Amino acid sequence: MELADDPGNLPGLGMAKPSALRALGLLTVRDLLFHLPRRHEDRTTFRPLASLEDGETAVVRGRVEAVRAVHLRGRTSYVQATVTDASGFVDVRWWNMPWLAKRIPAGADVILFGRFRNGRLTQPELEVLRGEDPLHAGRIVPIYPLSEGVTAPALRRAIHVAIEEAVGKVEDPLPERIRAARNLAPLPAALRDAHFPADREALERAKDRLRYQELFLYEVALAIRHRKTRLERGIAHRWSRTLDARIRARLPFALTDAQERALAEILRDLRSPEPMHRLLQGDVGSGKTAVAVYAALVSVANRKQVAFLAPTEVLARQHMATLGAYLRGSEVSTALLVGSTPQAERKEVLARLADGGIDLVVGTHALLEPSVAFAALGLVVVDEQHKFGVAQRATLIRKGSRPDVLVMTATPIPRTLALTAYGDLDVSVIDALPPGRVPPRTRILTRGRAGLAYGKVREEVGRGRQAYVVFPLVEESEEVDAQAAEEGCRRLAEGPLAGLRLGLVTGRTPPEERGATMDAFRRGAVDVLVGTTVLEVGLDVGNATVMVVENAERFGLSTLHQLRGRIGRGAAASFCFLVAAGRLSEEARARLDVLEATHDGFKIAEEDLRLRGPGEFFGTRQHGLPEFKVADLTRDHAVLEEARKDAFALLDADPALSKEPLLKAELKRAFAGRFGLFDVG
Ligand code: ADP
Ligand code: MG
Repeated sequence: MELADDPGNLPGLGMAKPSALRALGLLTVRDLLFHLPRRHEDRTTFRPLASLEDGETAVVRGRVEAVRAVHLRGRTSYVQATVTDASGFVDVRWWNMPWLAKRIPAGADVILFGRFRNGRLTQPELEVLRGEDPLHAGRIVPIYPLSEGVTAPALRRAIHVAIEEAVGKVEDPLPERIRAARNLAPLPAALRDAHFPADREALERAKDRLRYQELFLYEVALAIRHRKTRLERGIAHRWSRTLDARIRARLPFALTDAQERALAEILRDLRSPEPMHRLLQGDVGSGKTAVAVYAALVSVANRKQVAFLAPTEVLARQHMATLGAYLRGSEVSTALLVGSTPQAERKEVLARLADGGIDLVVGTHALLEPSVAFAALGLVVVDEQHKFGVAQRATLIRKGSRPDVLVMTATPIPRTLALTAYGDLDVSVIDALPPGRVPPRTRILTRGRAGLAYGKVREEVGRGRQAYVVFPLVEESEEVDAQAAEEGCRRLAEGPLAGLRLGLVTGRTPPEERGATMDAFRRGAVDVLVGTTVLEVGLDVGNATVMVVENAERFGLSTLHQLRGRIGRGAAASFCFLVAAGRLSEEARARLDVLEATHDGFKIAEEDLRLRGPGEFFGTRQHGLPEFKVADLTRDHAVLEEARKDAFALLDADPALSKEPLLKAELKRAFAGRFGLFDVG
């Protein structure tokens, strides 16, 4: 039997439709070997027949005493058998499987796995013993993902045969040195035990090996990309003490130690000819933008251009305002380029970007369009918030000649996710807030007590402060969510917030109107800004001291934390109310409790990851996370770190993987077509 053979020829699968095998992705014997069980069931202990209890699911072993097939009206039939063991006997019935009668002659030894109910085992999984080791019971049994047209025993049997005959032909892509150093099982042994382990220990060892391999392959792919992006000469920005002093004079505050550490790493990259590809992580309000502005000014001082990419127009405008404040009175020329930029203005911006007349442009996806060209792009800053994919980043980067790239994310990302979704980037972390911040006090309220929250809003507005009210995304549709927020806003205006100046911003508010409302809020002409999660993105209004989140149980922890980051940006006391729609489930309560208890964004992110899993963590958007079969990013931190270390070390020692043809072949197989950037030459 060869690995490339058609699995349809294996015993058990002969009757399976090719389409059923295809649906499971089982095109070759090799696929079968890598079709890992979803879980295992411990069927090692046989229950004495006399001791079966009503309702229990059990494994039994015995001898068939009597068998008969009974045909009822129509096509209905059943096979009835009596099975005995030393303790007694049990009746067994299989509905509509008349052929079974022939397979279990009286006197046959069988193992049955099923539910005992009303004095009888009904429709149990059957294995007829013919002297060989039992496959479906009496051991730790693999349970596979099934599709219509393939029965569990048939698939188990076929995989067992494939393992017996072909698993030795599977070549091990892991470099032998790494396998030995990490004390991992050889691949054929691991595959065998991943399906049919002798005991729990063997199963765990098999999983260790496969988990490591999965993560290692991915990290090797990332390491290749990491090398590639840094291979060609980029821009070596010049920097001096004089320039440093000039830039610092523009910042209205001294940088925190945490900011200084991140800045030092960024400066090292900027000055090096290796292109920078760095992720700057930090909690909301930790001062990432300030650091990015410093970097931008270095690039501009080198007569290069800087592009600042923001996920939404609101945020682009705000960055523009922030930058404008830092740059007041300087000679740096700036421009904004967003979807709603009028045609004539757009044309002018494009022309001046192309001839170098603009030093610094802030924009949205509009910056990615083919018509946008730069005279000398030196630095790309991406304010990411999980909204841009690798491909979009690459589009902007290609508009320059290997510019330095700084990706900022305001939601702290647990390290495991950072190492996978952003694994080709170097990471800097700002892990402390600027001094004088008083974190918001957070309270969970049930709907009936929401009045408390709105009372606080009135109180704070009465003292000249401002507030946010956030409505959740209920549906995938922006329309529906916008409606919910509009209605909520109306209710507030007529009820608990009557007389206050409310502004509304939702996904369907036209950009100009949205900009105007935000401006009004910034100026203090609006007391309460009501909206959907469009408010999530970095609004920076220090005077806002209250946030009310309606239906808070619908939000992810990281989103809530992000929202809460809109307040508590100054020294004044601030208040965050999480209003739950109804009675909270215990789990929802536990989730929200985390927010009440801590303000550490990394802790919250870890908890969010643990509770919701990696896919959900980034939301439904393109998140660049691979799907792992064995590895679990919520759990396998340690293995991931090891695999990454090994992968990067391997690439350093053998950049072309010339000594690892098997690994190379496996990478091609694993990533072919899926990641254009992973072509491994
Ligand atoms: P982020 O981009 O991480 O959300 P920002 O750079 O926007 O953070 O900073 C948040 C707020 O803190 C801004 O109002 C900014 O002016 C202020 N800020 C940033 N760094 C400092 C600092 N070192 N000292 C005092 N205030 C700071
Ligand atoms: Mg550089």
